[in-house]
Amino acid sequence: MTDSTTPVRVRFAPSPTGKLHVGGARTAIYNWAFARANGGTFILRIDDTDPTRSTDENTQVILRAMRWLGLDWDEGPEVGGEYGPYWQTECLPLYREAAERLVAEGKAYYCFCTPEKLEADRKAAQERKDPFQGYQRTCRDIDPAEAQARVDAGEPYTIRIKVPLDRGDVVVHDAVHGDVTFNARELDDFIIFRSDGTPTYNFATVVDDARMGITHIIRGDDHLSNTPRQIMVYEALGAPTPTFAHISMILGADGKKLSKRHGATSVEEYRDAGYLSDAFVNYLSLLGWSPDGESTVIPRERLAREFSLDHVSKNPAIMDPKKLDFINAEYLHAMSDEEFADTVLIPQLHAADFEPVGECTHDAAWYDLLASALKPRTTLSADVVEQARYLYTADDELAYDEKAVKKWLGKAGASDALDTAIEALEVLDEDAWTPEAIETALEPLPERLGMGKGKVFQPIRVAVVGGAASPGIGETLALAGRAHVLARLERAKGLTQ
Ligand code: GLU
Repeated sequence: MTDSTTPVRVRFAPSPTGKLHVGGARTAIYNWAFARANGGTFILRIDDTDPTRSTDENTQVILRAMRWLGLDWDEGPEVGGEYGPYWQTECLPLYREAAERLVAEGKAYYCFCTPEKLEADRKAAQERKDPFQGYQRTCRDIDPAEAQARVDAGEPYTIRIKVPLDRGDVVVHDAVHGDVTFNARELDDFIIFRSDGTPTYNFATVVDDARMGITHIIRGDDHLSNTPRQIMVYEALGAPTPTFAHISMILGADGKKLSKRHGATSVEEYRDAGYLSDAFVNYLSLLGWSPDGESTVIPRERLAREFSLDHVSKNPAIMDPKKLDFINAEYLHAMSDEEFADTVLIPQLHAADFEPVGECTHDAAWYDLLASALKPRTTLSADVVEQARYLYTADDELAYDEKAVKKWLGKAGASDALDTAIEALEVLDEDAWTPEAIETALEPLPERLGMGKGKVFQPIRVAVVGGAASPGIGETLALAGRAHVLARLERAKGLTQ
């Protein structure tokens, strides 16, 4: 085991065979937070040894996702570090060297068994009902000089680890699952180097984790069954075994492994759907961890301060899109109007290619007012686009929601409501065109007309916005501007009966 006084070094080691998925992102978050909470080092390593599935493009997608998540790494691609290379494909000579050293020390050996021989041995073990059906250790005792001669003569070989026969149980002291015991006999003298000259995952990962001085390995519990084999490699290499923490899978609401069927699965999809990075990280961090069992909003700084492995649950976590939306909305609502305008509103309006129409001044105060009006009604950043559309549409091009027109403009009294509104608003000049002044001007209308508030204000709203939902009537009209409001009220009279 690593000494508890050793400075913490953790790594996130994605294989660039696809996008960064939510499960991988949560593993990255836990590693990052654990490093930050312990004043340690967070390393990013690219496990790109699978040549058929790893691509540079996928690596770039993962790096972009990591940056969007705000998980800054202290060593790895782009930042370098003293423990490079940080790409496994650049480490092939290191793996070979390590494997050959183990052979020279008698801790690993060359195996010349052909696939046909291995298959025949397996069948025979099955037939004689041998409880051990793994590799029969055929080549374990070949004289090393003879083995070397066969290798030199060009005979195909793999390299296998020599699991000590008296090793007994291998116990993984897992920080999440507790002690998990595996029978060393079942482990087999497994292959560390394939006949094509490439290292296996269980070997390459340990060579790297050992040379990088990784103290804690936090990863998905789909790797728990690999861990006893990896412990055998640490022991053979004479390297201290790190602390393991295997975190549970993320499941969909139906209890099945999260997949496309459940909706978005990659970080990119969530980013593009308009989730805030802080909210997304907050949500994912709670899938299996909680500082106190109740907090929902946990800012990044708190996560980086309080994350600990003792509070990680071993039960599977269930992805809950409603909770994610709730947390995202909490983050949006906590922003100042100015921040909301700068980081959400303006970029979204820009992305939607909205251009101001007619005469209107969109100054900072206008954006702040729009931000304060829309913020409480926003769950995802992109929600602002539809809500602001009426402000970027020419008066004669405003599209009306049919149902809203029928309900609010098609009824008796609507025409009176519009007429009296025009009268009441015309007297306000440009300078007095504020939400408060507009509300004050409209307030007496229901009583004056002897009509309910809805019957008066909804026709006005539909006339200006095109639909029946919008922020308060004062803000809605103030934002649209005096000339546009009056023109739209006039136009909507044509829709009344
Ligand atoms: N590249 C491996 C994976 O993505 C890393 C597993 C590990 O953390 O050891 O599954």
